[in-house]
Parts: sequence; structure tokens; C-alpha cells
Amino acid sequence: MSVKEPAQNAPGKDTSGKEVPATAGNFLRNIVESDLAQGKYASRHWSGRPGDAAQHAAGPLDPARIRTRFPPEPNGYLHIGHAKSICLNFGIARDFGGTCHLRFDDTNPEKESQEYVNSIIESVRWLGFDWQFGGDTNLYSASGYFEWMYRCAAALIEHGHAYVDSQSADDIRMHRGTLTEPGKNSPFRDRGIAENRDLFTRMKNGEFADGTHVLRAKIDMASPNINLRDPIIYRIRHAHHHKTGDTWCIYPMYTYAHPIEDALENITHSICTLEFEDQRAFYDWLLGKLADAGFFARPLPQQYEFARLNLSYVVLSKRKLIQLVEEKHVDGWDDPRLPTLAGARRRGFTPEGFRNFAVRIGVSKSDSWIDMSILEDCMREHLNAEAERRIGVLDPVKLIVDNYPEGQTEACEAPNHPLKPELGKRELLMSREVWIERDDFMEVPSKGYFRLFPGNRARLRYAFIVECTGCDKDENGNVIAVHCTYLPDSRSGSPGADQYKVKGNVHWVSVQDAYSCEVRLYDRLFSVPNPGAGDRDFLLDLNPNAKKVVRAQLEPSLRKASPETRFQFERHGYFVADRVDSKSGAPIFNRTVTLRDSWAKGK
Ligand code: ATP
Ligand code: MG
Repeated sequence: MSVKEPAQNAPGKDTSGKEVPATAGNFLRNIVESDLAQGKYASRHWSGRPGDAAQHAAGPLDPARIRTRFPPEPNGYLHIGHAKSICLNFGIARDFGGTCHLRFDDTNPEKESQEYVNSIIESVRWLGFDWQFGGDTNLYSASGYFEWMYRCAAALIEHGHAYVDSQSADDIRMHRGTLTEPGKNSPFRDRGIAENRDLFTRMKNGEFADGTHVLRAKIDMASPNINLRDPIIYRIRHAHHHKTGDTWCIYPMYTYAHPIEDALENITHSICTLEFEDQRAFYDWLLGKLADAGFFARPLPQQYEFARLNLSYVVLSKRKLIQLVEEKHVDGWDDPRLPTLAGARRRGFTPEGFRNFAVRIGVSKSDSWIDMSILEDCMREHLNAEAERRIGVLDPVKLIVDNYPEGQTEACEAPNHPLKPELGKRELLMSREVWIERDDFMEVPSKGYFRLFPGNRARLRYAFIVECTGCDKDENGNVIAVHCTYLPDSRSGSPGADQYKVKGNVHWVSVQDAYSCEVRLYDRLFSVPNPGAGDRDFLLDLNPNAKKVVRAQLEPSLRKASPETRFQFERHGYFVADRVDSKSGAPIFNRTVTLRDSWAKGK
């Protein structure tokens, strides 16, 4: 990763709740900076792989100044919201001499799969990040820690901080209390250590059915923070796990597993989204107790929360994304209409665009909505700078140049990029018949129309000026060909080119060598900013025009475009050769985004 981001400027609060002004970089970076200045984490040791205090103590000082982590659950594909978290965690680690671990939070056996694991790895790499540091590959799975987690639970039992509860799930729920009322102690809360040890061992050995017992932390059923009312930390699930198979029939709860994963990996700054704010107390309680027991060394990892990304015109909930895919409202997880990173990639969105987006939206402590146009603008900006120009006629009609000699052709030059002459030029072959855009001709022009209509002159871009003479129609009155004559001394770049003044510019490709191909015109997935607002079914807000397939005529060089090459089709927008459907060798193009925002004032 060599891209250096500028300091981020969104305001927020520091650890003591003090407002950090908008000019001081984002609040998380400020925290890291101040921790480093104080040498807060300088004494940590790292054994080269995750482990407990004893294991790390035997290793050298941690060469990573800080460690962050990105911990997706492999129960779906990553989406644009995850990109924010990825850019944040990997970006901070990179900029402060640290490393960011990619960790699969795969402690929930039922909904996870290797397909999701693979797609997540591919997406994080695609965004431009990696998890190599020194000689270590910091790619981990929470399921690799089941043994450690089990030992932590055993240690909690030995110190009187956990007990086996044999109430039914309903009773546990009922006795939790509410925001205004304290909970009620379980009748099993005062089980002795020996009994707890025995029951927990037997839970692990598979002696009990699902739901018969759970292991709970012993904290305080009267705590004003409901998350501290003896949270469940282990449950029995006779389920097959995609990594550990049938080794385990008890699985740790996420809120218990997560702090332990962080501590095993020597994480310094554990950055998560705001909904975990109320869990921080349990995070600290658990690691504190395990540190007291000698299991982990201080300083312990610390949790910080930031506002998740809410983006208009899409949904970023895995549940809804799964529904869209499973009910076939879209064509799979990498459908270019979806806000998944796999979809965004096929759509032609760029990693650079995402990284710029992450910087532009900043990081804050309060929830807000980001408009889709900001993301699209970030993509446009990058594509405008990078993408070579090509000509594509998306709704073709034939233009016949009646005075152009039959069989004659001549090469006209077009620059690949108007601002980057170093990208060179390409040749467009002028001939008697060319494809033009259907709406570049009007038999009866509307006011202000200055492209082709009978008697009017316009320039065939990079070629000659033509004068429109009329059109042919079929029996239904549809225009099937437009006629014109050309002015041989008007060729672009020739000395005579400037003697004619015309307003209209028409793009074209020669009929004889055009590449006729499928082009998909993608647009926003939903037609309203907040799909499913209120109690409305979000499916009702799907944009029926989010995918339109046309047969286009493209300039011939596009026939050889390799998958994922991005172009600007002049006047139309940015397009990418589809990475999936181009594998056969004949590329299909997907529209990434139009040249200008057409959604700003409603369509
Ligand atoms: P689920 O919907 O299953 O809870 P999730 O969207 O929280 O899933 P995870 O796989 O748990 O997905 O997320 C991995 C990381 O990405 C978490 O640290 C989470 O905080 C972060 N993340 C998820 N959604 C967003 C979002 N919209 N904006 C920023 N970060 C996000
Ligand atoms: Mg989650």
C-alpha cells in the first residue's frame, strides 16, 4: 500500500468526551497519536502469533507500534459500509507504523461458509490492503481460538466469575429485568465452583442437548447496564462448523469472544461501530478479570466506537442483501447493482475511489446519512483522471455519407485522454456508413437543438463536418437511416478545419469495423433515498430501471479490452469491461456511472 491519505478532518470526541475540533484530524487518529506519544503500548511483547500473556512474554517487544483489526463475520459479502471500516482500520495501522489484522469472526457455526471467507479476502485485497507485517501473516480466525476461549471460561469459573445456568432461555430472558427494573438472580447463580467446573466440562463433552445449560458471567443482575446482568458467554450448539467441524458442541457468544480475540492478538485499538458502545463495559470487565487471573498482560486492548456508514439509495444490512440475492431480485452477490464490494468492483468502482470516499466522509461519533452522489463523485473524480476515452454508440442508427466514395476509408486520430497526451492516440476509421446516436438526429428539431437535422451542419467528432440532408423511414415511420454529405476540407486537425463554425458535435463509429456488443446501463438499485422507510417493504422501492441492457456499437479497439479495464465513453459516462462476463474473450461493458449526477433534482 503506497497511497498516503491526507489527515482526516471530521470532528468528534476524544476518550474523555472532550470535543475535538474539525481541524485536528479524526478523533481516532488523535487517540492513536496521543497513545503513541505517551508510549502506552511500548512495553508489549509479541510472540509472532496470537496467544496469552505467558506466550507473548517469551517473545521480543512487539515490532508493530499499534495493532488494529478488521473482524468480519463470514456470513455474507462485504459491502460499502465495510469499506469505511477497512479503510479506517488498515489506514490507521499503515500510517502509524502498525499492522491491521484480518480476522474472521466465525464463532457462529450456522450461518458461515468458506465462500464468504474467500470473497472477503478478495475484497480487502482489492481495496489495496494486506495483513503482512514483518514476517507475520496477520490473517486469523476466531474459530482458531476456541481452545483459548474455553480456557478463559474455565479460569473465570475457577475465580468465581462465571456459573452454569440451567434455566430455560425464556426464564433467562424474563429474569433479565428492563431498563427501569433490575433483573432477578438465577436460582443456579450460587452453584459452587466444583459443580460449575463439572457441568461446564460435561457441556463441552456433549452430554447435554442444545439449550439445556449456558455459561454466564457473574457480574450484577441489578446493573443499570443490561449488558452487565450476567451475560451468557457460552451456549450448547450441536452444529457443524465450517472450520472446526464437529470438534466443538459449545460455542462462545460474540460479546465474550471478541475481547478475547483482541487480547490474544495484542490489539491495541479495537475500533467498532456505535451499537457496541454499551458493550464496552463488559469488554473491560472481562479483560480485566482475565488480566487479574494472569491470563492476559496489561495494557489491555481498548474499544472505541465510531458511526457506521449509512448510504442513501442502497441498503447495507446483510439480512436485506441476502434477501435480495436469495429471492433473485438481483443476479447474485456480485451483481453490479448491489452495494457489495464484489458488485461495486464489477460495476467499475475503483479502490482509489473508495479510499478517497473514506477520507471525504471522515469519521465521527454521531450517526448520519451520506448521499450516494458523494460516493459517485469520488468514483467520477478518479475515473476522469485515469480512464481512457473511447466512443460507444449506445442507441445506434446508421448515418450514410452520400458523397463519401464507396470503399474508401481514412484514419482519424483521437486522443486517449484529453489531459494526458502521454497516453497517446488511437485511430478511428472514417467510412461511408457510420453509426451515430439515434438522438443525434431530429427530423424536426426542437428549440436549441444543434446536432443533425435536415439542412444543419455538425461535426463528426475527430473527423469531418457533415450537412444533414434527410432520412429514410420504415413503414411505421421509424427512422432507419440518416443521410448527409461531408465537407472534404473540414477534417479535424487539417488547416481547413476552422473555416466552418458548427455548434453540434456527433460521435460515431464506422459501420464496417464497429464492435457490436452488449452494454448494461446500471443505475441506482433503489429509486428513493431511504428504501423501506417507516414500515414499508423495502422491495417496493427497488428501481425497475436499475439495469437496462442495450446492443451498442463500439469502436473496434474495445473488442480487445481486458476484463476490468475502465473507459469513459464520450458523452455517456464511465464503463468497465465486465470481469465475469468478459472471460470468454468478447467483453461486455457495464456502465459504472454517468458523467453527471442525474439524481440531484429527481428524475
Ligand atoms: P451483521 O449485519 O451480520 O451484524 P455487520 O454488518 O456488523 O454484520 P460484520 O461482518 O460483523 O458485519 O462487520 C465487520 C466490521 O465491519 C465490523 O467491525 C463492523 O463494525 C464494520 N461495519 C459493518 N457495517 C458497517 C457500516 N455500515 N459502516 C461502517 N462499518 C461497518
Ligand atoms: Mg456484526
